[in-house]
Amino acid sequence: MAIVTLSLPDVKRKTKTRPMKCPHCQGETFQRWGKVLKPVRDNRFHSVQVYRYRCCHCRRTFRHYPAGVDQADQTLRMRKLAAIYWVLGLSLRSIPLALSAFGVKLSHMSVWRDLQEQAHLLTKQRRWQAVRILGVDGAYPLIKGKKQPVLIAVDLGTGQPVAIGQVDEYSPQAVKRWLEPLVQRLGVSVIVTDDLASFRTVAPKLGLEQQVCQFHVRRWVGRALHDLKGKLPKEWLWVLDEIKDLLTHLPLEGSRRLFELWKQIPEPRSGRNASPLSSLDQLRYLLLRLSEHWDSYRLFDWQKDVPWTNNGTEQAIGRMKMRSRTVRGYKSWPGMQAALLLSASGVAW
Ligand SMILES: [Zn+2]
Repeated sequence: MAIVTLSLPDVKRKTKTRPMKCPHCQGETFQRWGKVLKPVRDNRFHSVQVYRYRCCHCRRTFRHYPAGVDQADQTLRMRKLAAIYWVLGLSLRSIPLALSAFGVKLSHMSVWRDLQEQAHLLTKQRRWQAVRILGVDGAYPLIKGKKQPVLIAVDLGTGQPVAIGQVDEYSPQAVKRWLEPLVQRLGVSVIVTDDLASFRTVAPKLGLEQQVCQFHVRRWVGRALHDLKGKLPKEWLWVLDEIKDLLTHLPLEGSRRLFELWKQIPEPRSGRNASPLSSLDQLRYLLLRLSEHWDSYRLFDWQKDVPWTNNGTEQAIGRMKMRSRTVRGYKSWPGMQAALLLSASGVAW
Protein backbone atom coordinates (compact mmCIF):
# COMPACT_ATOMS: atom_id res chain seq x y z
CA MET A 1 0.00 0.00 0.00
CA ALA A 2 0.96 3.59 -0.55
CA ILE A 3 2.92 5.16 2.25
CA VAL A 4 3.09 8.91 2.58
CA THR A 5 6.62 10.02 3.32
CA LEU A 6 6.98 13.74 3.31
CA SER A 7 10.70 13.99 2.76
CA LEU A 8 11.90 17.14 1.09
CA PRO A 9 15.30 17.64 -0.49
CA ASP A 10 17.74 19.72 1.52
CA VAL A 11 18.81 23.08 0.13
CA LYS A 12 22.24 24.53 0.95
CA ARG A 13 23.17 28.20 0.85
CA LYS A 14 26.64 27.43 -0.48
CA THR A 15 28.71 24.43 -1.37
CA LYS A 16 32.11 23.41 -0.05
CA THR A 17 32.62 20.65 -2.57
CA ARG A 18 34.31 21.09 -5.90
CA PRO A 19 32.82 19.72 -9.09
CA MET A 20 33.81 16.15 -9.99
CA LYS A 21 33.49 16.38 -13.75
CA CYS A 22 33.14 19.01 -16.42
CA PRO A 23 29.59 18.83 -17.78
CA HIS A 24 30.90 19.52 -21.30
CA CYS A 25 33.86 17.19 -21.71
CA GLN A 26 34.03 15.08 -18.50
CA GLY A 27 37.39 16.70 -17.72
CA GLU A 28 38.48 16.54 -14.08
CA THR A 29 40.62 19.60 -13.45
CA PHE A 30 39.23 23.12 -13.06
CA GLN A 31 40.03 26.67 -12.13
CA ARG A 32 37.65 28.71 -10.04
CA TRP A 33 36.24 31.40 -12.31
CA GLY A 34 34.39 33.71 -9.96
CA LYS A 35 31.20 33.45 -7.99
CA VAL A 36 27.69 34.80 -8.33
CA LEU A 37 24.78 35.32 -6.02
CA LYS A 38 21.84 33.50 -7.57
CA PRO A 39 18.36 34.63 -6.50
CA VAL A 40 16.10 31.64 -5.72
CA ARG A 41 12.50 31.00 -4.74
CA ASP A 42 12.73 29.03 -1.53
CA ASN A 43 11.24 29.03 1.94
CA ARG A 44 14.61 29.70 3.67
CA PHE A 45 16.86 31.51 1.23
CA HIS A 46 16.43 34.43 -1.11
CA SER A 47 19.70 33.70 -2.81
CA VAL A 48 22.45 31.09 -2.85
CA GLN A 49 26.11 31.26 -3.68
CA VAL A 50 27.13 29.67 -6.95
CA TYR A 51 30.74 29.20 -8.05
CA ARG A 52 31.78 29.28 -11.64
CA TYR A 53 34.58 27.07 -12.84
CA ARG A 54 36.61 26.84 -15.96
CA CYS A 55 37.59 23.44 -17.27
CA CYS A 56 41.36 23.14 -17.83
CA HIS A 57 40.73 20.67 -20.58
CA CYS A 58 38.06 22.21 -22.83
CA ARG A 59 38.32 25.73 -21.36
CA ARG A 60 34.61 26.18 -21.13
CA THR A 61 32.99 27.58 -18.01
CA PHE A 62 30.10 26.17 -16.03
CA ARG A 63 28.25 26.76 -12.78
CA HIS A 64 28.55 24.50 -9.77
CA TYR A 65 25.36 24.67 -7.67
CA PRO A 66 24.92 23.91 -3.98
CA ALA A 67 22.65 20.99 -2.97
CA GLY A 68 18.97 21.44 -3.86
CA VAL A 69 19.63 24.13 -6.48
CA ASP A 70 19.93 24.00 -10.26
CA GLN A 71 19.36 26.35 -13.22
CA ALA A 72 15.70 26.89 -12.27
CA ASP A 73 14.77 29.78 -10.01
CA GLN A 74 12.73 27.54 -7.70
CA THR A 75 14.77 25.25 -5.47
CA LEU A 76 14.17 21.49 -5.71
CA ARG A 77 12.51 21.70 -2.30
CA MET A 78 9.89 24.20 -3.52
CA ARG A 79 9.15 22.22 -6.66
CA LYS A 80 8.61 19.08 -4.66
CA LEU A 81 6.55 20.88 -2.04
CA ALA A 82 4.22 22.24 -4.74
CA ALA A 83 3.70 18.69 -6.03
CA ILE A 84 3.10 17.34 -2.52
CA TYR A 85 0.39 19.98 -1.96
CA TRP A 86 -1.23 18.84 -5.18
CA VAL A 87 -1.17 15.19 -4.17
CA LEU A 88 -2.59 16.07 -0.78
CA GLY A 89 -5.57 17.74 -2.43
CA LEU A 90 -4.91 21.47 -2.83
CA SER A 91 -6.11 22.97 -6.08
CA LEU A 92 -3.81 24.45 -8.67
CA ARG A 93 -4.87 27.96 -7.69
CA SER A 94 -4.60 27.50 -3.94
CA ILE A 95 -1.06 26.12 -4.00
CA PRO A 96 0.52 29.55 -4.74
CA LEU A 97 -1.48 30.89 -1.79
CA ALA A 98 -0.18 28.15 0.50
CA LEU A 99 3.39 28.75 -0.66
CA SER A 100 3.07 32.50 -0.11
CA ALA A 101 3.05 31.72 3.63
CA PHE A 102 6.75 30.94 3.18
CA GLY A 103 7.32 34.20 1.35
CA VAL A 104 7.50 32.45 -2.01
CA LYS A 105 5.64 33.93 -4.95
CA LEU A 106 4.66 31.51 -7.69
CA SER A 107 2.09 31.65 -10.45
CA HIS A 108 -0.26 28.70 -10.83
CA MET A 109 1.37 28.03 -14.20
CA SER A 110 4.77 27.49 -12.60
CA VAL A 111 3.06 25.15 -10.12
CA TRP A 112 1.64 23.32 -13.12
CA ARG A 113 5.16 22.95 -14.55
CA ASP A 114 6.38 21.69 -11.17
CA LEU A 115 3.71 18.98 -11.26
CA GLN A 116 4.76 17.99 -14.75
CA GLU A 117 8.37 17.68 -13.66
CA GLN A 118 7.56 15.55 -10.62
CA ALA A 119 5.23 13.31 -12.62
CA HIS A 120 7.95 12.86 -15.20
CA LEU A 121 10.48 11.89 -12.51
CA LEU A 122 8.00 9.47 -10.99
CA THR A 123 7.25 7.85 -14.33
CA LYS A 124 10.93 7.52 -15.14
CA GLN A 125 11.59 5.94 -11.77
CA ARG A 126 8.81 3.39 -12.27
CA ARG A 127 9.29 2.79 -15.93
CA TRP A 128 11.31 -0.37 -15.69
CA GLN A 129 10.16 -1.70 -12.35
CA ALA A 130 8.67 -5.12 -12.97
CA VAL A 131 4.96 -5.50 -12.21
CA ARG A 132 3.62 -9.01 -11.79
CA ILE A 133 -0.01 -8.23 -10.99
CA LEU A 134 -1.62 -5.33 -12.81
CA GLY A 135 -5.05 -3.95 -11.90
CA VAL A 136 -6.85 -2.38 -14.87
CA ASP A 137 -10.08 -0.43 -14.78
CA GLY A 138 -11.94 2.21 -16.71
CA ALA A 139 -12.83 5.61 -15.28
CA TYR A 140 -14.59 8.72 -16.48
CA PRO A 141 -12.94 11.79 -14.98
CA LEU A 142 -14.27 15.23 -15.84
CA ILE A 143 -11.88 16.77 -18.33
CA LYS A 144 -12.72 20.26 -19.56
CA GLY A 145 -16.22 19.82 -18.18
CA LYS A 146 -16.81 16.58 -20.06
CA LYS A 147 -16.60 13.01 -18.88
CA GLN A 148 -13.82 11.32 -20.81
CA PRO A 149 -13.11 7.59 -20.86
CA VAL A 150 -9.69 6.63 -19.52
CA LEU A 151 -8.07 3.38 -18.53
CA ILE A 152 -5.84 3.22 -15.51
CA ALA A 153 -3.28 0.51 -14.76
CA VAL A 154 -2.14 -0.01 -11.17
CA ASP A 155 0.69 -2.11 -9.77
CA LEU A 156 -1.26 -4.14 -7.23
CA GLY A 157 1.96 -5.05 -5.46
CA THR A 158 2.56 -1.43 -4.43
CA GLY A 159 -0.84 0.17 -5.06
CA GLN A 160 0.84 2.67 -7.39
CA PRO A 161 -0.55 3.63 -10.81
CA VAL A 162 1.80 2.92 -13.70
CA ALA A 163 -0.16 4.35 -16.62
CA ILE A 164 -3.27 6.28 -17.60
CA GLY A 165 -4.51 6.20 -21.18
CA GLN A 166 -7.31 7.76 -23.19
CA VAL A 167 -8.91 4.43 -23.96
CA ASP A 168 -12.50 3.25 -24.18
CA GLU A 169 -12.73 0.18 -21.94
CA TYR A 170 -15.52 -1.30 -24.10
CA SER A 171 -13.33 -1.62 -27.17
CA PRO A 172 -11.20 -4.80 -27.12
CA GLN A 173 -8.95 -3.47 -29.93
CA ALA A 174 -8.26 -0.22 -28.09
CA VAL A 175 -7.68 -2.02 -24.80
CA LYS A 176 -5.26 -4.44 -26.43
CA ARG A 177 -3.35 -1.71 -28.27
CA TRP A 178 -2.83 0.16 -25.02
CA LEU A 179 -2.16 -2.80 -22.76
CA GLU A 180 0.21 -4.81 -24.95
CA PRO A 181 3.37 -2.63 -24.73
CA LEU A 182 2.73 -2.08 -21.03
CA VAL A 183 2.45 -5.80 -20.33
CA GLN A 184 5.60 -6.55 -22.29
CA ARG A 185 7.68 -3.81 -20.76
CA LEU A 186 6.67 -4.51 -17.17
CA GLY A 187 6.58 -8.30 -17.45
CA VAL A 188 2.99 -8.54 -16.22
CA SER A 189 1.59 -12.07 -15.78
CA VAL A 190 -1.78 -11.48 -14.09
CA ILE A 191 -4.42 -8.79 -14.65
CA VAL A 192 -7.23 -8.00 -12.27
CA THR A 193 -10.28 -6.44 -13.93
CA ASP A 194 -14.03 -6.30 -13.75
CA ASP A 195 -16.22 -8.63 -15.78
CA LEU A 196 -16.23 -6.66 -19.06
CA ALA A 197 -16.08 -8.71 -22.24
CA SER A 198 -13.23 -6.60 -23.62
CA PHE A 199 -10.79 -7.60 -20.83
CA ARG A 200 -11.87 -11.19 -21.21
CA THR A 201 -11.08 -11.09 -24.93
CA VAL A 202 -7.71 -9.37 -24.51
CA ALA A 203 -6.26 -11.31 -21.54
CA PRO A 204 -5.62 -14.65 -23.34
CA LYS A 205 -4.33 -12.84 -26.43
CA LEU A 206 -1.64 -11.23 -24.31
CA GLY A 207 -0.87 -14.47 -22.49
CA LEU A 208 -2.22 -13.11 -19.21
CA GLU A 209 -4.01 -14.88 -16.42
CA GLN A 210 -7.05 -13.01 -15.22
CA GLN A 211 -8.71 -12.50 -11.89
CA VAL A 212 -12.14 -10.92 -12.10
CA CYS A 213 -13.02 -8.64 -9.21
CA GLN A 214 -15.45 -10.55 -7.01
CA PHE A 215 -17.24 -7.41 -5.85
CA HIS A 216 -18.28 -6.82 -9.46
CA VAL A 217 -19.28 -10.42 -10.02
CA ARG A 218 -21.38 -10.56 -6.88
CA ARG A 219 -23.05 -7.30 -7.77
CA TRP A 220 -24.15 -8.21 -11.28
CA VAL A 221 -24.99 -11.82 -10.46
CA GLY A 222 -26.91 -10.65 -7.41
CA ARG A 223 -29.00 -8.39 -9.63
CA ALA A 224 -29.59 -11.17 -12.17
CA LEU A 225 -30.66 -13.62 -9.44
CA HIS A 226 -32.98 -11.06 -7.89
CA ASP A 227 -34.54 -10.40 -11.26
CA LEU A 228 -35.01 -14.12 -11.99
CA LYS A 229 -36.50 -14.78 -8.58
CA GLY A 230 -39.55 -12.76 -9.53
CA LYS A 231 -40.33 -14.57 -12.76
CA LEU A 232 -38.84 -18.08 -12.72
CA PRO A 233 -41.24 -21.09 -12.41
CA LYS A 234 -41.29 -22.15 -8.73
CA GLU A 235 -39.80 -25.59 -9.36
CA TRP A 236 -36.51 -23.98 -10.48
CA LEU A 237 -35.98 -21.51 -7.65
CA TRP A 238 -33.57 -23.89 -5.86
CA VAL A 239 -31.09 -23.35 -8.72
CA LEU A 240 -30.81 -19.68 -7.76
CA ASP A 241 -29.92 -20.63 -4.20
CA GLU A 242 -27.28 -23.01 -5.43
CA ILE A 243 -25.69 -20.38 -7.70
CA LYS A 244 -25.56 -17.96 -4.80
CA ASP A 245 -23.97 -20.60 -2.62
CA LEU A 246 -21.34 -21.45 -5.24
CA LEU A 247 -20.38 -17.80 -5.68
CA THR A 248 -20.05 -17.36 -1.95
CA HIS A 249 -17.65 -20.26 -1.54
CA LEU A 250 -16.06 -20.36 -5.01
CA PRO A 251 -15.23 -24.09 -4.83
CA LEU A 252 -12.78 -25.62 -7.29
CA GLU A 253 -15.45 -27.85 -8.85
CA GLY A 254 -17.90 -24.92 -9.27
CA SER A 255 -17.52 -24.79 -13.04
CA ARG A 256 -18.51 -28.45 -13.46
CA ARG A 257 -21.42 -28.09 -11.07
CA LEU A 258 -22.78 -25.06 -12.95
CA PHE A 259 -22.45 -26.96 -16.21
CA GLU A 260 -24.44 -29.87 -14.75
CA LEU A 261 -27.17 -27.49 -13.66
CA TRP A 262 -27.20 -26.00 -17.15
CA LYS A 263 -27.77 -29.46 -18.64
CA GLN A 264 -30.73 -30.09 -16.31
CA ILE A 265 -32.69 -27.12 -17.56
CA PRO A 266 -34.82 -27.85 -20.63
CA GLU A 267 -33.72 -26.23 -23.86
CA PRO A 268 -35.93 -23.53 -25.37
CA ARG A 269 -38.59 -25.02 -27.63
CA SER A 270 -39.05 -22.05 -29.84
CA GLY A 271 -35.46 -21.94 -31.04
CA ARG A 272 -32.95 -19.11 -31.18
CA ASN A 273 -35.13 -16.39 -32.60
CA ALA A 274 -37.67 -16.43 -29.80
CA SER A 275 -37.89 -13.04 -28.20
CA PRO A 276 -37.88 -11.95 -25.53
CA LEU A 277 -35.79 -14.61 -23.82
CA SER A 278 -37.86 -16.66 -21.38
CA SER A 279 -36.79 -16.69 -17.74
CA LEU A 280 -35.56 -20.29 -18.10
CA ASP A 281 -33.43 -19.30 -21.08
CA GLN A 282 -31.99 -16.48 -19.05
CA LEU A 283 -31.12 -18.91 -16.29
CA ARG A 284 -29.45 -21.25 -18.77
CA TYR A 285 -27.44 -18.40 -20.18
CA LEU A 286 -26.36 -17.28 -16.72
CA LEU A 287 -25.27 -20.80 -15.72
CA LEU A 288 -23.22 -21.24 -18.87
CA ARG A 289 -21.55 -17.88 -18.56
CA LEU A 290 -20.58 -18.45 -14.93
CA SER A 291 -19.36 -21.97 -15.71
CA GLU A 292 -17.15 -20.72 -18.53
CA HIS A 293 -15.72 -17.86 -16.52
CA TRP A 294 -15.24 -19.81 -13.31
CA ASP A 295 -11.43 -20.04 -13.45
CA SER A 296 -11.12 -16.27 -13.67
CA TYR A 297 -13.15 -15.91 -10.48
CA ARG A 298 -10.85 -17.99 -8.36
CA LEU A 299 -7.32 -17.42 -9.65
CA PHE A 300 -6.49 -15.80 -6.29
CA ASP A 301 -7.05 -19.16 -4.62
CA TRP A 302 -3.85 -20.65 -6.02
CA GLN A 303 -1.84 -17.76 -7.54
CA LYS A 304 0.23 -16.14 -4.84
CA ASP A 305 -0.58 -12.52 -3.86
CA VAL A 306 -3.42 -12.11 -6.36
CA PRO A 307 -6.20 -10.10 -4.68
CA TRP A 308 -9.78 -11.28 -5.11
CA THR A 309 -11.07 -7.77 -5.78
CA ASN A 310 -9.84 -4.81 -7.80
CA ASN A 311 -9.99 -2.58 -4.76
CA GLY A 312 -6.42 -1.30 -5.14
CA THR A 313 -7.21 0.02 -8.61
CA GLU A 314 -10.45 1.59 -7.47
CA GLN A 315 -8.66 3.48 -4.71
CA ALA A 316 -6.26 5.00 -7.23
CA ILE A 317 -9.24 5.99 -9.39
CA GLY A 318 -10.91 7.61 -6.40
CA ARG A 319 -7.84 9.78 -5.75
CA MET A 320 -7.62 10.70 -9.41
CA LYS A 321 -11.31 11.66 -9.65
CA MET A 322 -11.14 13.87 -6.62
CA ARG A 323 -8.23 15.64 -8.27
CA SER A 324 -9.60 15.97 -11.78
CA ARG A 325 -12.61 17.90 -10.46
CA THR A 326 -10.44 20.74 -9.19
CA VAL A 327 -8.71 21.48 -12.48
CA ARG A 328 -10.36 23.21 -15.39
CA GLY A 329 -8.81 23.71 -18.78
CA TYR A 330 -5.97 21.25 -18.88
CA LYS A 331 -3.46 22.39 -21.43
CA SER A 332 -2.96 19.09 -23.19
CA TRP A 333 -3.63 15.42 -22.77
CA PRO A 334 0.01 14.52 -21.87
CA GLY A 335 0.02 17.27 -19.27
CA MET A 336 -3.24 16.12 -17.81
CA GLN A 337 -2.17 12.50 -17.87
CA ALA A 338 0.93 13.41 -15.89
CA ALA A 339 -1.03 15.39 -13.31
CA LEU A 340 -3.60 12.63 -12.90
CA LEU A 341 -0.94 9.96 -12.55
CA LEU A 342 0.70 12.03 -9.86
CA SER A 343 -2.57 12.51 -7.98
CA ALA A 344 -3.53 8.83 -8.29
CA SER A 345 -0.20 7.96 -6.66
CA GLY A 346 -1.31 9.53 -3.43
CA VAL A 347 2.24 9.59 -2.13
CA ALA A 348 4.95 12.13 -1.70
CA TRP A 349 8.12 10.16 -2.28
ZN1 LIG B 1 35.61 20.47 -20.10
